[in-house]
Amino acid sequence: MMQKLTNRSFIASDKKMTFRERIYLPAVLSGMAITLRHFFKKKVTISYPEQIREFSKVYRGQHVLKRDEQGRERCTACGLCAVACPAEAITMVAAERKPGEEHLYREEKYAKVYEINMLRCIFCGDCEEACPKEAIFLTDRIVEAKYKRMPFVYGKDLLVEPADPHKRVDISARQTSEVLKFKNDDRYAHNR
Ligand code: SF4
Ligand code: SF4
Repeated sequence: MMQKLTNRSFIASDKKMTFRERIYLPAVLSGMAITLRHFFKKKVTISYPEQIREFSKVYRGQHVLKRDEQGRERCTACGLCAVACPAEAITMVAAERKPGEEHLYREEKYAKVYEINMLRCIFCGDCEEACPKEAIFLTDRIVEAKYKRMPFVYGKDLLVEPADPHKRVDISARQTSEVLKFKNDDRYAHNR
């Protein structure tokens, strides 16, 4: 005997239609009644992009590579974020800091190339969790829709925040007590 996986399947039959089924009108009216019932219900959809829903406090959008207080890139190209990434979306090329570049990079090693493939990324936040330098964060910014694939590979030009202190990417909105609790991470204990 064939085993049924769900109760949703039914056996099709070619039995003759009743008079009620043949005139279709009751079925049409019952369909219209359902439509009318939903017409007067509260709308669950919104007119995006004119209207935008309030984001969850733990919404995870486009990444940012942060700079320190002196404007130096925090990332040391240790690769932990790439190792933690389940989608293998992060690639980087490390380089040694040269004398005279101390104002650009915080440590002796930095990411010469740092790329995230936004089409692979599932915005899980594991890279943020894995980073020991507080260098990468997910923000509440939306990755813009595009018509081609290549622009979705975001390089340092799109990921590193501007050096100008007034144009830095504010990540504090996501670092609320709820987020900190959610992370349940000792590194953030001093902020609680
Ligand atoms: S958010 Fe997740 S999937 Fe996206 S780059 Fe970070 S670790 Fe990878
Ligand atoms: S973002 Fe953080 S984890 Fe990733 S390479 Fe840079 S320092 Fe390492």
